[in-house]
Amino acid sequence: MTGKFYETPIDEYLPQSGNAGYRVSRYDLELTYRVVGNRLAGRAAITAVTTAARPRFALDLDQALSVSKVVVNGAKAAKFVHQRGKLLITPRDRIPAGGALVLVVHYQGIPKPVRGPWGDVGWEELGEGALVANQPNGAASWFPCDDHPSSKARYRISITTDSPYYAAANGTLVGKQTKASSTTWVYEQSEPMSSYLATVQIGPYRKYRLRSPRASVPMQAILPPALRVVFDHDFARQPQMLDVFEAAFGPYPFDEYTVVVTDDELDIPIEAQGMSIFGANHCDGRRGAERLVAHELAHQWFGNSLTIRQWRDIWLHEGFACYAEWIWSEAAGGPTADQLARAARHNLSREPQDIVIGDPGPQRMFDDRVYKRGALTLHALRLQLGDSTFFALLRDWTIRYRHSSVTTEEFTDLAAHYSLAPLRPLWEHWLLGQSLPHLPPTGGMSTA
Ligand SMILES: [Zn+2]
Repeated sequence: MTGKFYETPIDEYLPQSGNAGYRVSRYDLELTYRVVGNRLAGRAAITAVTTAARPRFALDLDQALSVSKVVVNGAKAAKFVHQRGKLLITPRDRIPAGGALVLVVHYQGIPKPVRGPWGDVGWEELGEGALVANQPNGAASWFPCDDHPSSKARYRISITTDSPYYAAANGTLVGKQTKASSTTWVYEQSEPMSSYLATVQIGPYRKYRLRSPRASVPMQAILPPALRVVFDHDFARQPQMLDVFEAAFGPYPFDEYTVVVTDDELDIPIEAQGMSIFGANHCDGRRGAERLVAHELAHQWFGNSLTIRQWRDIWLHEGFACYAEWIWSEAAGGPTADQLARAARHNLSREPQDIVIGDPGPQRMFDDRVYKRGALTLHALRLQLGDSTFFALLRDWTIRYRHSSVTTEEFTDLAAHYSLAPLRPLWEHWLLGQSLPHLPPTGGMSTA
């Protein structure tokens, strides 16, 4: 009965996620969250245009949430079926291709993370509050969506929660109102965003503005007050990092940048659009996580502004973010990118060479070899093109595809314009082969 929605998967890596027949332009989420008991109630208004005339439209929504009502295009309640993570909606009137589609979904429940080969993703209850880490398919754990990175839309996220808690979401805080014991926080994300990058963070936090020499990109921190002093030390170099990355990658792609630090420990930091989320353990007073601070900041360009159209191309996010770590290390007076690349290659040479990073397979999308070998691919390209050409290419890449969807082929096509020699062998060896190529010898290397 639901099979036809899976006949042509949007993405072969996550065939259950993403839906055909429409394109979302905007999500308007009104969420109410009770910290005690982890209870979520939501009203999601999804504005879309149909791409085909269909009797039914599907949204991704986890079964932990129950739907009480669906309204299509302002008409009376529409028929729906919610099963196996799909909300199938039948409009009362047939909508032609190219027609306006506004789906309003009322739902509630106790959200829980989605289990998968990449661990638990999505909405997660914290000791005090909640955290959201969607990548790759966790968005459906807290709102009905077209859960695929190629589906980018604008968002307005309103969260009403118990007053002592701070509630953060993507974009700019445009409203905050306290009534009795609850507070409503309203955020507007005006640049298009993939569902996996949508986030809500709720906890016993306070907001601090960071001193930034660049007034054009306000930076702020949202964290438990007890972590403030150590945070100020450990994250102090973010403004310099931003300068280094803007010189290397082009202008920062969003209006502001927020770092959230949770009271709980997190295995790894989380990227979200305009935001990164770290655990209390990433504040150690010794800048022990600065490599990760650089990595997450770089995702604002590679992943959040330029987002892959297919999960297969994940190296375009992780390889670039890993390479940004090396660029930052060199700029900060640590080991150079070339030294780090050669060390990473040496380490990789002792690992099994059985992965193709241009198509690693869904189970190994987030394998560390995708990150490291992805960064090495960029380093090999840099050695071939020379510094000024390489960084001109990266800036062209981020400006040309700003706030849109990208593929590996689009990157290699653009790179071809920057090289007199054919780059095909480089891509074949680094991205499409299993055995680990050697890096070319070092020429005159310097920072961007
Ligand atoms: Zn990453």
